Amino acid sequence: MEKSSASGGAMARAGMDAGEDIESLLKRLNLKKGEKKGVKIGGERIANLKEEVKWLALGRVHTRKTFSAGSLFETMHHAWGLAKEIKPRILEENLFLFQAACLGDWKRIMEEGPWLFRDQGLVLGEYDGFSPVNSIPLNLLHVWIRIPKIPDLFKKEDVVRDLASKVGIVEKIELRPSIVENYVRARVKLNVDEPLMRFVTLELEDHRDLVFQVLYEKLPRFCGVCGLMGHVASECGDGVHPP
Ligand SMILES: [Zn+2]
Repeated sequence: MEKSSASGGAMARAGMDAGEDIESLLKRLNLKKGEKKGVKIGGERIANLKEEVKWLALGRVHTRKTFSAGSLFETMHHAWGLAKEIKPRILEENLFLFQAACLGDWKRIMEEGPWLFRDQGLVLGEYDGFSPVNSIPLNLLHVWIRIPKIPDLFKKEDVVRDLASKVGIVEKIELRPSIVENYVRARVKLNVDEPLMRFVTLELEDHRDLVFQVLYEKLPRFCGVCGLMGHVASECGDGVHPP
């Protein structure tokens, strides 16, 4: 156990080893009555607190490379072009907290991405202001995809939704976004830990499969070898791959 010293060293935590987290500690120890009885937060008190954590998002750049937070904030400041000032905070290396000051700014940040920093995706997740920051999954990137040349017969909400859901979590479908070009458009949340889908297939009964290409409107850099975002082929494995 750590001992506090008069010279002001590490603080002692009763019954706790240095570095042990609270979860494993709670499993090991029995709480005393006084320790268990909590401080209640409800009613107006919680309402006021909730106001403080409104429009909060956690963000990280999907990259293994180092970068300066200042330059990320600068890039986002220009990309977002928000109505009100935003004061981002650095929580850890490559983990940031953003708080929008109005609904319009919040929607801009959360719904109009993907946001790119040096060609890498900024992954955002809504935050409640009190959960452990590492418990918030930060692996979804919102993008627009296009699937060209789907025959009119299959340009139906349910069919297109099923096709788009092979690419990511579907948020929105546009069956006829253009009067000149023939494609359907979908807003999807991509899992950045999974390879990008290049094609989707319609399996028709008593007919050969119809295969459609998937186009991405804006995308971070990705690897042509493994299909993952966040690095390029020359950085994948030892970087030496057949052409
Ligand atoms: Zn790769």
